[in-house]
Amino acid sequence: MQKDQLFTRRRLLLAGAAALGAAGTAGLVVASDGEEAAGTVAPAAGPPVRQAPKSSAFRLQPLTGYGPPPTAPRKLKVRKEPILRISGTGRRMMLTFDDGPNPAYTPHILDTLGKYGVRAMFFLCGECIVENRELVARMAAEGHVVGNHTWTHPLLTTLNRREIRDEMESTSDAIEDTYGERPQWFRAPYGAWNRAAFQLGAQMGMEPMAWTVDSTDWTTPGTRTIVDTIESGAAPGVVVLSHDAGGDRSQSVQALREYLPYLLDNGYHLTVPRRRT
Ligand SMILES: [Zn+2]
Repeated sequence: MQKDQLFTRRRLLLAGAAALGAAGTAGLVVASDGEEAAGTVAPAAGPPVRQAPKSSAFRLQPLTGYGPPPTAPRKLKVRKEPILRISGTGRRMMLTFDDGPNPAYTPHILDTLGKYGVRAMFFLCGECIVENRELVARMAAEGHVVGNHTWTHPLLTTLNRREIRDEMESTSDAIEDTYGERPQWFRAPYGAWNRAAFQLGAQMGMEPMAWTVDSTDWTTPGTRTIVDTIESGAAPGVVVLSHDAGGDRSQSVQALREYLPYLLDNGYHLTVPRRRT
């Protein structure tokens, strides 16, 4: 990453952090299904946990149904601040990877997660989805959960409502097309949320998901620093922010190989959210 880009991102992140700070640092909770523990995760080589709908599936839907089709978004309550951590009993944590998918890094992250039978969340950008459709299909097949991270990764606070809607809607469309269902989670680029993003996300059936611990991998501080940041930040309910795209992410890839077995050895269950079945 170029230095000027780095400073821009840092400034934007600080702006986002300030916004979060204004909203308070108390974490909101999200239901985390007891069956989501790592021990129940299907191995990467096993049968797919999720299947894309068959092309003939819609024919099974009645012409005049008794409810919305399965992919219709359910409107949600509009939040005023994003979710910062997960709830649930025990030592649960969640790993999230933003800005991808990216063919240079995402496959390695998926390999490591699969090796340990761990599921994670990926917040995807539409422009990367259409270039790497097979990676999104792999995420679906291996039981990972994907979220909407906009199409072009803009600073939403600089866009009008129509532009924000376009960024979010087109990305949800691309996710439905590649993953098999519309996303139920949304993360604002740079953590810079605004009212329109909360409102539009709720309209599209997506909850806003932020994070508890920033791995700082986007500053490429060295693998050791990333590992230390995540291991020292480990605690029940923590959501970890990392990246599998947006720059050289080889440190993020290598760090995962080190902190993931550490977290598992220390009794953490790496989980994914499950809001509805
Ligand atoms: Zn991002």
